[in-house]
Amino acid sequence: MEISEKLKLIQEGKLTPEENIKSFLDEIERNDQKGKKINAFLEINPNALLEAKEVSSKLREGKAGKLAGLAIAAKSNISVKGMYASCASKTLEKYKAGYDATVIKKIREEDGIIIGYTNMDEFAAGASGETSAYGHTLNPIAIERIPGGSSSGSAAAVAAGFCDLALGSDTGGSIRNPASHCGIVGVKPTYGSVSRYGLLDLSMSLEQIGSLSEDVLGAELLLEVIKGKDERDATTFDVKEKKEKIRKMNKIKIGIPKIEANKEIWELVRKRIEEVSKREGWDVKEIEMRYIDLGVQAYYPINYVEFFSATRKYDGRRFGEKIEEVCGDEVLRRILGGQEIAQAEFAGKYYRKALQAKKLIAEEFEASLKKVDCLIMPTVPRLPHKFGEKLSLEEMYNYDTLTVLANLAGVPAISVPAGKIQGIPIGIQIICGKFEEKKMFLIAKRFELEE
Ligand code: GLN
Repeated sequence: MEISEKLKLIQEGKLTPEENIKSFLDEIERNDQKGKKINAFLEINPNALLEAKEVSSKLREGKAGKLAGLAIAAKSNISVKGMYASCASKTLEKYKAGYDATVIKKIREEDGIIIGYTNMDEFAAGASGETSAYGHTLNPIAIERIPGGSSSGSAAAVAAGFCDLALGSDTGGSIRNPASHCGIVGVKPTYGSVSRYGLLDLSMSLEQIGSLSEDVLGAELLLEVIKGKDERDATTFDVKEKKEKIRKMNKIKIGIPKIEANKEIWELVRKRIEEVSKREGWDVKEIEMRYIDLGVQAYYPINYVEFFSATRKYDGRRFGEKIEEVCGDEVLRRILGGQEIAQAEFAGKYYRKALQAKKLIAEEFEASLKKVDCLIMPTVPRLPHKFGEKLSLEEMYNYDTLTVLANLAGVPAISVPAGKIQGIPIGIQIICGKFEEKKMFLIAKRFELEE
């Protein structure tokens, strides 16, 4: 059901928040929990029904907020007071968050109900959902294939109909990538537009919390609620998008950069661009970008170094176990790699070079996004692999080639379903300039497929 329809039913009293939550809990019980199923959730909020009841009385009093009665799943690296913010790692298996992250607080203020914590790649380090310490999540749409990651559980939960909306975090694609593979919408907002207070970071200079939904409107609604300046996170801004920035919608200019991707995926994405631009009377032009192929090489050294530094607090004294002793291979690789890169003799070679490349990419995106309204390309350059298939590290990291760009440039990006290839969902990625989310959502809505 579309989010607008669901909200209407709740507002009109035709569906109570308790009924909404209960039906999701039943669905999760039937198809997610009990070992054998999707495995999208790691923990269910034991108070969800109680909270729904409170929202019901607020509705009766006409005091309910924008998300009244909606079930929202949270990635388990976002603090929800009293729940196990494990980041799907043995390191934090017994760690209960002592407070609500700012985004959770904002959701509660608008009467959204946190239904549970979702599965993910361990510490958000991954693109497949396979590195969780609690077993992988299945892709509800293409069951034998990976759901993508690292927000695998959040995407799967939305796609399987276990919740209305979900929160994920995206450092290099972790919202857009699983959204693409699971056939839903996923948004990574402008860096600095959403508070990271209460997020257990993978790589703080690249990461943002964002939304996942069946449709663009739902993703927009949730982002609207969670965004904004936060005194507890000094990187946040409060920026109102200037009206004049949204040029007339009938004059939208789409830029298509030259990038490497699977041929069939490119064909599908180009076909969508053609269909939509023709229907809307928009301009499309190829655009030359010199640094666009440097994304993964710039991204990983920064990610490793920042992750290494972020994990120093997991020394077994304050939060759970000593990370190096219990974590999985990918997390250990990043800790050891980050440590090495951070050492003085290597810093100039990798880290500073990576920062330079990041700057070049950011500048190029800024310049390009002055010439066009948006850049469009596939979200992920290849089809998701089947479980059991062994990928090299390079192949694994190459999943991220097209998503890391928006993180390095700090700009917003959205993945919207573009169709299917052999029954596997494919996402189209729309990237706009900093703080141009409004325009991005307007464009994305025109790309939504008819049911
Ligand atoms: N796949 C990327 C990585 O492994 C992105 C992760 C993310 O966005 N959290 O780092």
